[in-house]
Amino acid sequence: MESESLFVEEAEPPGRLTGIVGPNPSTSSNHEEISLTPFRLPATAPARAVQKWAGSADSRARDFRKRFFPNITLKEWQDWRWQLRNRIHDVETLGRMIHLSEDERHAMSGSAACLPLAITPYYLSLLDPRNPRQALRRTVVPTVHEHFRSNGEADDPLHEDEDSPVPGIVHRYPDRVLFLVTGTCSTYCRYCTRSRMVGHHGNHCLSTEQWEKGIAYVASHPEVRDVLLSGGDPLTLADDQLEWLLSQLRQIPHVEFIRIGTKTPAVLPQRITPALVRMLRRYHPLWISIHAAHPDELTPEMARACTRLADAGIPLGSQTVLLSGINDDVETMKRLVHGLLKIRVKPYYLYQCDPIPGSSHFRTLVSKGLEIIRGLRGFTTGYAVPTYVIDAPGGGGKIPLLPDYVAGREDGDLLLQNYEGKVFRYPDRPSAEGVIH
Ligand code: SF4
Repeated sequence: MESESLFVEEAEPPGRLTGIVGPNPSTSSNHEEISLTPFRLPATAPARAVQKWAGSADSRARDFRKRFFPNITLKEWQDWRWQLRNRIHDVETLGRMIHLSEDERHAMSGSAACLPLAITPYYLSLLDPRNPRQALRRTVVPTVHEHFRSNGEADDPLHEDEDSPVPGIVHRYPDRVLFLVTGTCSTYCRYCTRSRMVGHHGNHCLSTEQWEKGIAYVASHPEVRDVLLSGGDPLTLADDQLEWLLSQLRQIPHVEFIRIGTKTPAVLPQRITPALVRMLRRYHPLWISIHAAHPDELTPEMARACTRLADAGIPLGSQTVLLSGINDDVETMKRLVHGLLKIRVKPYYLYQCDPIPGSSHFRTLVSKGLEIIRGLRGFTTGYAVPTYVIDAPGGGGKIPLLPDYVAGREDGDLLLQNYEGKVFRYPDRPSAEGVIH
């Protein structure tokens, strides 16, 4: 009988896997396409299947799997390679699994989509099939708003390409670099800062030679003590590819600290296998920043993935983009940050949404972000409060934003407002003459 336990241990050893996009460090070949034949929907699946969207995330995922992948075992469903191979990336298949609105269908018709479409079956099982306004659904299903470019929007709003001395490396800050190691994600967010390079866009497919150039750049810059692997999503790489990168970086004496930025625990938690974690823990100090958008992502599967990483001694932080109508209210954000702490993820950054093309429907006013921070600070655990930042368009880097708690000055005292709006005084003055020592 099929076990419904959350994760099954890997039945085969990890390694280089067909279906994973990225360079092969041992052969220096370029990208391979995801080529394995995906599971075909059964002929009996209704054209517009109706899924009852109720119950726990667990039971919804089980219902979804049984409805749309009835011949797939739980073990296959829990295999991250199966999830990657069977990503949903066309409107016909998506339309058979959820009721697409006219807006969504129109957005995906023709060739006008700004960003590629791909959603893992796991993440799709979390979407409300009937409600196009559902938060998670809006983050991954295109709408026609994507086709409208507003003032101030740009393909590369952060000017990362201008700060790129070699392909894949962004060197903006004095002591650290961003290393964009892949353009692939398992699931594409509709507000992605790197929309210019993820999926099939642009010329950002890195070859092994380009990886080597990136590593050589880091090795020749002794001021670089911190390398952030990002993309795309580095955890779409096979274990041996990722290990090759980590081992190369670890051999550079001045690299003190390696970080990985990923959304995988939220969209493909099956990827966090015991084998991956065993490999990662060999490269400490290693930190991971997890992209989390909404509390509905915090499923038992994601909790298990984060537990595995945390148990391996990997400090976990979260990065969240502030998104209009998705997470831009205090209660939703509070549920998210509390849920993250419960799975041992420190809420790290709250980002103002970057002005990529077609993102105006996602962007809030900055005052909304400040209101959320004001609604958290003091009202909940300090560890739960992320730093709210704008990554300045034009390449200015991250600039923190704080509500103003300074109410003024009086008689040499600083007047400070606490979280309840009450005013307190702090004697903020140089030591006065006549003080008895
Ligand atoms: S996971 Fe990150 S890189 Fe990938 S589409 Fe989402 S925001 Fe972009």
